[in-house]
Amino acid sequence: MNHERSRDLYDRALSVLPGGVNSAVRGATEPYPFFAESGDGGHVIDADGNRYVDWLMGLGPLLYGHDTPEPVSAAIQSHASQGPLYGMPTEIEVEHAEFVARHVPSVEMLRFVNSGTEATVSALRLARGHTGRDKVVVMQGGYHGAQESTLVEGDADHVQPSSPGIPASFAQHTIPVPFNDHDAITEVFEERGHEIAAVLVEPILANQGIVTPVEDYHETVRDLTEDHGALLIWDEVITGFRVGGLQCAQGKYGIDPDLTTFGKLIGGGFPVGAIGGPAGIVEGFTPSGDVFQAGTFSGHPVTMAAGLESLTYAAENDIHEHVSALGEQLREGLREIVAERAPSYQVAGVDGIFKVHFTREGAGEVRNAADVKAGETDRWRSVFRPAMAEEGILLSQNQFESQFVTYAHTEDDVEETLTAYEATL
Ligand code: PLP
Repeated sequence: MNHERSRDLYDRALSVLPGGVNSAVRGATEPYPFFAESGDGGHVIDADGNRYVDWLMGLGPLLYGHDTPEPVSAAIQSHASQGPLYGMPTEIEVEHAEFVARHVPSVEMLRFVNSGTEATVSALRLARGHTGRDKVVVMQGGYHGAQESTLVEGDADHVQPSSPGIPASFAQHTIPVPFNDHDAITEVFEERGHEIAAVLVEPILANQGIVTPVEDYHETVRDLTEDHGALLIWDEVITGFRVGGLQCAQGKYGIDPDLTTFGKLIGGGFPVGAIGGPAGIVEGFTPSGDVFQAGTFSGHPVTMAAGLESLTYAAENDIHEHVSALGEQLREGLREIVAERAPSYQVAGVDGIFKVHFTREGAGEVRNAADVKAGETDRWRSVFRPAMAEEGILLSQNQFESQFVTYAHTEDDVEETLTAYEATL
């Protein structure tokens, strides 16, 4: 494959964009990222005209791959040509909020924002305002966007910011615990439960490999938060409207969080975030409450139209069933290949997300972020991913991000991908 144009664009980009990109993970591939030119169903075409089966899929916001269904395109175009925004409320925001409240079990009311990061920032502010407490519990390796409270590393006893530029005093309010460890979070609540405003957790760790919850883990966390007067916030930025269909992961796992953060699919491919929950908590936001929250672009009509129409189309056309079935077909094929060619590796994922963990021999089942990190991540990055790209299969930029199945993917895409895994593993 020829990548000359991508290389030249990257060279130019390095002069005007830090690291040549506008989001860190895009620069994670070596020696340089491929620049995208266009999409076509389940495929993406790069700046040199190379065509790939695309499992990166914008990192999650594209339920229909690169083909937008006609009613969705029409709604986007009509709203884009009408303004496109006003600084005044619009009907489409109300309709979208009504749709989400109808489908997501714990959501009665929503505040729309512009990114998943903004959603988690605002949710934590709301939880702290609601409880009058400062501390938040997060999972080691959980990701909640580029925000001060959650960019931390360490454990419950020794925590520090994971990035320069964040005051150490901020990190002192965050308590990281290992995912799927009942004892660790129980101990934290026994010692500091009265100080904890919230637990912020992804239902499935989806940015540190894919790690699904062990039995009763979420039930334990739900009980602990209830018993100690803390809020349970589920970060469904990735799982929302992808895992568990329109009910999201909370419907699938039968847990009612106090707050839910959304992003990605709720905006149908446009910049979005949202915080949802019962009115008694969400009304804490200004102007109905005192917890300040605002945004020029929040509830943008084009985003609202894209999000509402794409989820409505999904509700009317069994889209999630198709995506999940194709996802299972892919995972099943991967399990067979892994069993034969790399028996220590593990296939992860559920519904429309998948990943192969490059676990080392004797490592045991992946239960948390540390288990994923201990795998052959260098092999994945330097050898495996580039080789898959040469075979025409585009995977996520590193070993930790999820890969996404969409309605545009076909059984042929799955077969082509399995053949490439077989050749490359
Ligand atoms: N929360 C989770 C679970 C995410 O996966 C992400 C991004 O991937 C975010 C929050 C941040 O969302 P955004 O990148 O839209 O700010």
